[in-house]
Amino acid sequence: ALSIGIVGLPNVGKSTLFTAMTNKGGLAANYPFATIEPNVGIVPVPDERLDALAEIDHPAKIVPATVEFVDIAGLVAGASQGEGLGNQFLANIRETDAIAEVVRFFGDPDVTHVAGKVDPQSDVDTIKTELILADIATVEKAIPRLEKEAKRDKAGVAKLEVAKKVLEGLNEGHRARTLGLTDDEVAAIYELHLLTMKPMLYIANVDEGAVDAELPEIDGCVPVPISAKVEADIAELAEMDPEEAKEYMEALGLAESGLARLIREAYALLGLQSYFTSGETETRAWTIPIGAKAPQAAGVIHTDFERGFIKAETASFEDYVALGGEKGCRDAGKLRQEGKDYVVQDGDVMHFKFNV
Ligand code: GDP
Repeated sequence: ALSIGIVGLPNVGKSTLFTAMTNKGGLAANYPFATIEPNVGIVPVPDERLDALAEIDHPAKIVPATVEFVDIAGLVAGASQGEGLGNQFLANIRETDAIAEVVRFFGDPDVTHVAGKVDPQSDVDTIKTELILADIATVEKAIPRLEKEAKRDKAGVAKLEVAKKVLEGLNEGHRARTLGLTDDEVAAIYELHLLTMKPMLYIANVDEGAVDAELPEIDGCVPVPISAKVEADIAELAEMDPEEAKEYMEALGLAESGLARLIREAYALLGLQSYFTSGETETRAWTIPIGAKAPQAAGVIHTDFERGFIKAETASFEDYVALGGEKGCRDAGKLRQEGKDYVVQDGDVMHFKFNV
């Protein structure tokens, strides 16, 4: 599953948001849900299309795509120097696909701000510095090993060169991702799992009344406004009565939960989309990169599906629903036989044929 590390200064609302989003009784109540570790929550990707497909196929179960959130505790100034929870913190985010930084926008004077005042830009700069310092430490530590590799082969030489170039950029205060590296260069140092190479998303934890506020850009991207407090209230209400939670959201003018918005932004940021499989056993959403071809999409289900790929019987979500499922699509000539060069479209309902 897609994994997103949640970072931010202490007291900005990370835990509140994490708890609300991964709440068992929350809007996720109808979906399978698991918590692996206290700081890891797997949440279903909200997608109404799954319900529409299930109404047609009456599957034994509905399996949504999932996103894994990792709550990474207390990054403070000096974390990369080993203060606070520094090293553990770093180990935790290395594994994630993207980083979502919660930034405090809410004013509440009862909640202490670690830096003394609400100042989103300054908070973002603090975290950015810590992430860059952590990467500098990683690269510096790797260089002696890369120097040895460089004596062995050409690939080693390339790695060392990129590492040095990245180190220079980091030392100038740039995130690795913004250094304009080529795909080959990125691949050469992939093994270093640099934090500042990961795509980043900002969550503005706003006052309850400001969930639809227009926010200024941070580092060139518009933060996703979410109220951790509102999300917590929604999750709590939903646990007792999902209808009431919906009414509460409507009263606030919220078309969807903060979780849904966040996941949508993360998918867009990472260039991801969903396709579906549906039948009497299960109706299920799968996550693939935009631009993925049919065999690659099949490979997400099972590597055998990719290796033995023959073709994919494919209908658009709209046709599938309008024509009452696979049979209806076939009868109407809307079930396409797609081969290995087919570029899968968001919402495609697919049935793979493969050799074992
Ligand atoms: P963390 O240290 O970033 O995990 O922050 P917490 O989630 O523990 O929140 C710190 C404090 O801020 C707690 O007292 C929360 O109740 C409060 N808090 C979190 N989110 C909000 C919010 O959206 N609005 C207000 N007013 N308080 C919040």
